[in-house]
Amino acid sequence: MSQESEQGTLYVISAPSGAGKTSLVAGMLERDEKLGVSVSHTTRPMRTGEQDGINYHFISRDEFEAMIARGDFLEHADVFGNYYGTSQVWVQQTLARGQDVILEIDWQGAEQIRRLMPGCVSIFIVPPSPEALRERLSGRGTDSPEVVVRRLKEASDECSHALEFDYLVVNDDFQTALDDLLSIVRCQRLRMQVQQVRHAVLLATLSDG
Ligand code: 5GP
Repeated sequence: MSQESEQGTLYVISAPSGAGKTSLVAGMLERDEKLGVSVSHTTRPMRTGEQDGINYHFISRDEFEAMIARGDFLEHADVFGNYYGTSQVWVQQTLARGQDVILEIDWQGAEQIRRLMPGCVSIFIVPPSPEALRERLSGRGTDSPEVVVRRLKEASDECSHALEFDYLVVNDDFQTALDDLLSIVRCQRLRMQVQQVRHAVLLATLSDG
């Protein structure tokens, strides 16, 4: 096997807040043990129920800026006033081991990754309707109308980049959306470029006459 062909595939998954991306990615990891997800660094405050090192690596702005200066990030972006970034070393090492990696990042990060790693597969997830999005974003209960309006504006900004992605998954029914995502992964693994390496001996034997 050549070094290049042993590489895992990089999946970039983006969505507006409220599309169910995090639960869908968790479902993908549960169903496919060959998938791993990158834990991003962020400067945003930790939310209730989140854990450092599990949901994100929560760090200060100073630490984040030092990491940018050291070139530690594969991509990074300012998303709604907080920094978010993907560790360069973790992603490169995991792909080099042949494991597939998911990046749950925003459209700005997706744009950078596409430029850096043209072989990546990018997927955009949307809710089934604007009403469903509004309901999901205001459904958290405790937020003021201004906060809900701001979230909707941020969601529509994110959605305006949907056409830049390779695949679109509509999260109407959770299981269907999860199956769609796993089908994309399965298709990628069946591509000739990947299969001809995995089944090199079989193909050589079969075509030997
Ligand atoms: P949240 O703070 O709600 O977890 O995430 C806010 C936004 O930041 C989401 O669109 C999420 O996908 C994005 N995000 C999370 N991690 C990263 C990252 O490492 N890089 C970039 N560019 N965006 C990220």
